[in-house]
Amino acid sequence: MRVLKFGGTSVANAANIQKVIAIAEQFKNEKIVVVISALGGVTDELIKAGSLAAEKDESYKEVLEALEKRHLDTAKTLLPVTLQSSCLSKVKQQFNELDEICEGVYRLNELSLRTRDRIISFGELMSSQILAAYYAAIQQPHEWLDTRQLITTNNHFGFAAVDFALTNRQIQERVKQSPANLFLAPGFVAATKEGHTTTLGRGGSDYTAAIFAAALQANALEIWTDVNGMMTADPRWVPNAKTIDQISYQEAMELSHFGAKVIYPPTIQPVMNKKIPVWVKNTFQPQAAGTLIENIPSSEGEIIRGISSINHIALLSLEGSGMIGIPGFSKRLFEALASEEINVILITQSSSEHSICVAINTADADKAKKVVDAAFETEISNGKVDPLKVERNLSVIALVGDQMKSHPGISGKMFASLGSNGINVRAIAQGSSERNISAVISYADVKKGVNVLHESFFEFDYKQLNLFITGLGNVGGKLISQLAQQKKYLQQHLKLNIRVAGMANSKNMLFKEEGIDLHNWKEEMQTGEPMQLDAFVDTIVSKNLHNAVFVDITANADVAGIYHKLLAKSIAVVACNKIACSSPYAYYQQLKSLSAEYNAQFLFETNVGAGLPVIGTLNDLLRSGDRVNSIQAVLSGTLNFVFNNYDGTRPFAEVVKQAQDEGYTEPDPRLDLGGTDVMRKIMILAREAGEQLEMEDITNTSFLPASCFDGSVDDFYNEMAKHEAHFKALYNEAATAGCKLKFVASYADGKAQVGLQHIPAAHDFYHLYGKDNIVLFRTQRYAEQPLVVKGAGAGADVTASGVFADIIRAAKV
Ligand code: ADP
Ligand code: ASP
Ligand code: MG
Repeated sequence: MRVLKFGGTSVANAANIQKVIAIAEQFKNEKIVVVISALGGVTDELIKAGSLAAEKDESYKEVLEALEKRHLDTAKTLLPVTLQSSCLSKVKQQFNELDEICEGVYRLNELSLRTRDRIISFGELMSSQILAAYYAAIQQPHEWLDTRQLITTNNHFGFAAVDFALTNRQIQERVKQSPANLFLAPGFVAATKEGHTTTLGRGGSDYTAAIFAAALQANALEIWTDVNGMMTADPRWVPNAKTIDQISYQEAMELSHFGAKVIYPPTIQPVMNKKIPVWVKNTFQPQAAGTLIENIPSSEGEIIRGISSINHIALLSLEGSGMIGIPGFSKRLFEALASEEINVILITQSSSEHSICVAINTADADKAKKVVDAAFETEISNGKVDPLKVERNLSVIALVGDQMKSHPGISGKMFASLGSNGINVRAIAQGSSERNISAVISYADVKKGVNVLHESFFEFDYKQLNLFITGLGNVGGKLISQLAQQKKYLQQHLKLNIRVAGMANSKNMLFKEEGIDLHNWKEEMQTGEPMQLDAFVDTIVSKNLHNAVFVDITANADVAGIYHKLLAKSIAVVACNKIACSSPYAYYQQLKSLSAEYNAQFLFETNVGAGLPVIGTLNDLLRSGDRVNSIQAVLSGTLNFVFNNYDGTRPFAEVVKQAQDEGYTEPDPRLDLGGTDVMRKIMILAREAGEQLEMEDITNTSFLPASCFDGSVDDFYNEMAKHEAHFKALYNEAATAGCKLKFVASYADGKAQVGLQHIPAAHDFYHLYGKDNIVLFRTQRYAEQPLVVKGAGAGADVTASGVFADIIRAAKV
């Protein structure tokens, strides 16, 4: 004897029902009971029809008409034309009955739970009768079982409790007396002793099947559904969820209680008591192994089996000084809740005994508030207890596993993972069985939370990083090609999976949670929406993806002005843009504090020396306890290029133009030539070294004539041409002294300055070619010889690799 249950999707239409028939066919030599759900979605529609009728909305008729058509169409497709009529008339007859009931509801303007159960029972009654008609048509012996006569419940309509003694006897007698090998039964539907139709709770067909399996001491219960088994998390939320091969009854029960919809929670108990193995299998992939639920010795198996969540949770907090040490408070709280049949999902009591927190369904929150405040009326009026606090829009997220109790550190890991993604935990509970740890978090965070925990506990293979990139110019373009090129390497060597989930330039923005195709991003960007910075940021925040990194490769002040919003949501920021770090000290400091507070990296290595490890080196020195005595540096690739190429034979303006054309300068080259860019860089280094410096604290001895700063960029070139003699003089003066010209930035004793200097041949800066940068750190440990960082300090490729390195750092792999 074997019981097979097929869910709503498995019987959604004639084509799917054929698959069900094929699966049942495999067991034709065994005695089997096939329990089926209503055609997918039908129960919801029946509920809708009933509610509409009760609200005096005539459109209930359209809902019923559509349902009738769907059932008739299914029967017509499934059955040979010549053998349809009896089934079709049965369906029509049932819809007449339904029409009558709904009309009554419409007239009375009222829908009792009892009538509602009558209405929704039609879903399963019809689906099972259509299947029976199929077997009748092919003349396969079978029996349709009316579960209203076999499963007897109390009159708790909508969620009726089974009288097992009676039910077991009825099922056994009915099935034993029949010679048939194939029994068909509607799931979900039962009746009271008096014959009033009841239902077993939403998703209750699983339970019907378990009741049959237990009563008949079946060899197996098979739950056939639309996924490959019980999975490590809800596959609709976690694309990497894996099928669980084998799981204990208790774990399966715990997972389903905490929201894993694949099995209706009460299902496990009856089969567990009888030690009947349960298979969860996929109707659409019958060859896949599925999940086996059975008794597993508690020393075997994974530590964590799965993660599940329940939404629409409200958290009740009962607090007050009067609660300390007085016994009976919790008892009174729970009695009050029980008096209204309010189901308690999770309980925590603080060790100070100051408060008790209870999670319940949001639908019960108003009722709970009323009944609890009434129960503690005296204590509330004399100030010993506060009125019940109710918070809504919450979810419970749970980790489940039998082995948890013997492995310390699980909850630590759980809360660290949630915390590092900015997910605030409102309450925590560990079941007394120590088979689950559950936490109450905001509903807005639950999808992210499930993914974060799944990654921590199941995805040893890869860590997923979700990037949002702004600025797709030269450097941005190079970064994207480097990301595309390194994808495989990062997966293999760092176990890092990088996905660009959003991109924006000044015109368009595009979001794609599954990742933008990095080989085709320019085309994909065409399909984006017009760029609006606020909307871009809001979308990133609302997407609430885990391990999110915002990458700013613009030179835009507005973009630099939104980092704080992202960091405060635990989104890491990688900035190539120098504006934030060189803005007033207060903003720089705010960003640093947010980064620490929300555990989100704020990285900007490329602000100084492009891809050169300048800031990283300085930070490493400081973190290891070294102290900076001075920093001396040539930090402008542009200026270095200009002075390396200018010897008076070509006009100075022409050399500057060449630097601009080759992409080494800021869009307005005066930012480089005038020294502002170098000031920013030395200020950032000084700030990183702990100095509270502003731009106006830095001395800048400019070599440009004052008139060069007036007007447009074109005017600037004209002015430089006019002052060619000045530039030539600067060069000659240095050359006569055997020196080269370098624009040097220095920091020592709390002061920073920038300016053109004569560099003699023996100096570290003398042999500095092309657009190279050099930084000399003199520190307590590097007192005699400085620590030198030298190399290309500008260029799209090296800058992009610097940004890339920051992204990897942000991943904390
Ligand atoms: P049926 O109609 O067959 O009873 P359900 O919709 O009730 O199917 O349950 C199957 C669905 O449960 C799956 O499609 C999946 O989306 C959802 N689900 C939630 N959590 C899990 C989980 N841990 N494992 C598998 N499926 C899950
Ligand atoms: N048809 C019922 C429901 O949708 C029972 C079930 O499918 O298990 O809740
Ligand atoms: Mg179900």
